[in-house]
Amino acid sequence: MSTPVGSKPCSLLCPNCHQQVTTRTEAKASNKTHILALILGALCLWPCAACLYCTECARNTEHYCPSCNNYIGSYER
Ligand SMILES: [Zn+2]
Repeated sequence: MSTPVGSKPCSLLCPNCHQQVTTRTEAKASNKTHILALILGALCLWPCAACLYCTECARNTEHYCPSCNNYIGSYER
């Protein structure tokens, strides 16, 4: 079960350590990113596929608790 979160760090109660925290965020490539990259690759557009991994817009944002490093939730674009 994941907590609904946005694309920016947000302030919430950590379900693990029960402290009010501002989440630490990490951008992760999503399955959609990989699929899109494969399609672009199949069309011989490898430079575009590489660009996908360099742009923020093709990635999910994962939120972690800064105090206990517990995974809180992810934001899918
Ligand atoms: Zn925590």
